Amino acid sequence: MKIDYIDKIINRIIKECETRDPYEIAKQNGIFVIEEDLGEVYGYYNSFKRRKFIHINSTLEQEKKNVTACHELGHSLCHPLEKTPALTKMNLVSELKIEKEANYFATKLIVDDRHKEQNMETVYSVLDFYGLPTSFERYL
Ligand SMILES: [Zn+2]
Repeated sequence: MKIDYIDKIINRIIKECETRDPYEIAKQNGIFVIEEDLGEVYGYYNSFKRRKFIHINSTLEQEKKNVTACHELGHSLCHPLEKTPALTKMNLVSELKIEKEANYFATKLIVDDRHKEQNMETVYSVLDFYGLPTSFERYL
């Protein structure tokens, strides 16, 4: 999948749903979001009988939940029928193509350019501003 194709999906979904909130976007697209204790796993995506499910670890802090929800939403919209690995700390730096695409999706969905009014000096302050992990530097 090409990056500009993912950009198109993101732009379309933001326009259609009039929000960048992954929970609201999921709701409007009939994707079920389930929060449950997943131990070490941040979240995962699966589909069953044409229904799409995003599972989020209920024990995560809010910012991590949001990044996870965006990542899994990326899978549900970009790779709805593929089997995708569960998101863990490891996958935030994964070289797997679908993982990189989901991380790219999450970054683009979250970064709404509000940081441009803040005079940020480094890319790390930008990532921190949005609650993104430092490994997402490559997606900015
Ligand atoms: Zn993933």
